[in-house]
Amino acid sequence: MEVERALKESREAFESGVTRSYSWRMSQLRALKAILIEKEADIFEALKLDLGKHRIEAYRDEVGLMIKSVDNALRNLKKWMAPKKVDLPLLYFPAAGEIVAEPLGVVLIFSTWNFPIGLSFEPLIGAISAGNVVVMKPSELASASSNFLATNLPKYLDNSVKVIEGGPHIGEQLLKHKWDKIFFTGSSRVGRIVMTAAAKHLTPVSLELGGKCPAIIDTLSRARDIEVTINRVAGAKWGLCGGQACIAIDYLLVEEKFAPLLVDRLKAKIKKLYNDPENTARIVHGQHFQRLRDILNDPAVAASVVYGGSSNAEGLLIEPTILLDPPLDSEIMREEIFGPMLPIITLKKIEDSIEFLKARPQPLVIYAFTVDERLKRRIVEETSSGGITFNDAMIQFAADSLPFGGIGESGLGKYHGKYSFDQFSHGKAILRRSFLIEFSFRYPPWSEWKLKLIRYAFRFYYIGILLMFLGLER
Ligand code: NAD
Repeated sequence: MEVERALKESREAFESGVTRSYSWRMSQLRALKAILIEKEADIFEALKLDLGKHRIEAYRDEVGLMIKSVDNALRNLKKWMAPKKVDLPLLYFPAAGEIVAEPLGVVLIFSTWNFPIGLSFEPLIGAISAGNVVVMKPSELASASSNFLATNLPKYLDNSVKVIEGGPHIGEQLLKHKWDKIFFTGSSRVGRIVMTAAAKHLTPVSLELGGKCPAIIDTLSRARDIEVTINRVAGAKWGLCGGQACIAIDYLLVEEKFAPLLVDRLKAKIKKLYNDPENTARIVHGQHFQRLRDILNDPAVAASVVYGGSSNAEGLLIEPTILLDPPLDSEIMREEIFGPMLPIITLKKIEDSIEFLKARPQPLVIYAFTVDERLKRRIVEETSSGGITFNDAMIQFAADSLPFGGIGESGLGKYHGKYSFDQFSHGKAILRRSFLIEFSFRYPPWSEWKLKLIRYAFRFYYIGILLMFLGLER
């Protein structure tokens, strides 16, 4: 009933036409920004309750990052909404072509628990910028954040967002209905369920999924780059929601001769930065905690632990853990880890990492720490992934000018910045002609000279008209 009512009211709101205007979109974006600013303390509290996130991590990855995204939309919306002029073949002269961005309608957004505010706001900013109405289902596993969204989004926004709280059962109910777009963030398993349900109504989908993001480490022979490499690797493993992030580093690839140095430096870094549970998020839920414990309890995996491995079920904490060469067919190397365990896989030569990656599903991001331009080129040209970041990690997520999204198992569709606006718009093609010039060779009765003209017209598409004026048109 709640679902039906939300859908009906959202459809009415969209059909009233109010969401199409520039001023309405700007007012809703300003309201989103106001929530982030005025309710910062409540957001920090919700993220502490759900995930034990430190408020600085909460600001860096959610509040501050989303203020940046709203500001980018507020600054650029007029430009994004403006019709885009396109070139047309000379044959069409006189004519004009343009692409007009049309809102899709009522959009269903599923968000997830690891960045429960950020990953709700980021698609919301795109959907509202594009003039849509949104029904949002946050993750039930981050219940304080879900509750925050359900309380504040409708209060601040003008009937443009409805929040429906609940778990898979509510998700299934939502998927029975026809939406104009479904934007899903979550696992590949549920992504398949979403796509199957959407196919019934031919609803377009964006799937922001997960996967195993590798990091190739090729800088350990360069003394001056080691410290920065280790900082960035550790930050992208233990400093990002305790490893529970789609763009977290899942495992490392390194030449075997450098493995002892890598392990030593990572151990030292953990002791310095991530030993205090205050500085890392905890595991979201008992179920996920148990899943991670089970992975570590596999005897072959346990034997590969070279640091950490302890846990505290009451506090839902797992110690930052390093594993050296766990079996490649064990769960830790087959499935996305989504937790604070970091396997290191050793290779004879770092170039072998290319074949290693090609033999596995396409990840959301490939990270590579290297100054070897040939290796970089090979990674770009020979591997496939949502994106590649060289010599850093995570920061690509905050760059509005780069599309964010996966490929294959890691997702479908790109968003962030203008790409979000495009995700939630239909680019309608508009062609305007006049009655000034009319070519008879378009129509029967057919003759050899007409065929000749048509051949010329396609061959010299953009200069074809000149040939007409040179006497070929009768
Ligand atoms: P999940 O797939 O279990 O849940 C995602 C959403 O789907 C939740 O709202 C959940 O309630 C709903 N859901 C679950 N079962 C459903 C069903 N049968 N029918 C309808 N809806 C259902 O994912 P999760 O555990 O919340 O999140 C972790 C996953 O999300 C990881 O795989 C991670 O990599 C991925 N992720 C991807 C991105 C990205 O931007 N690419 C970001 C964060 C997380």
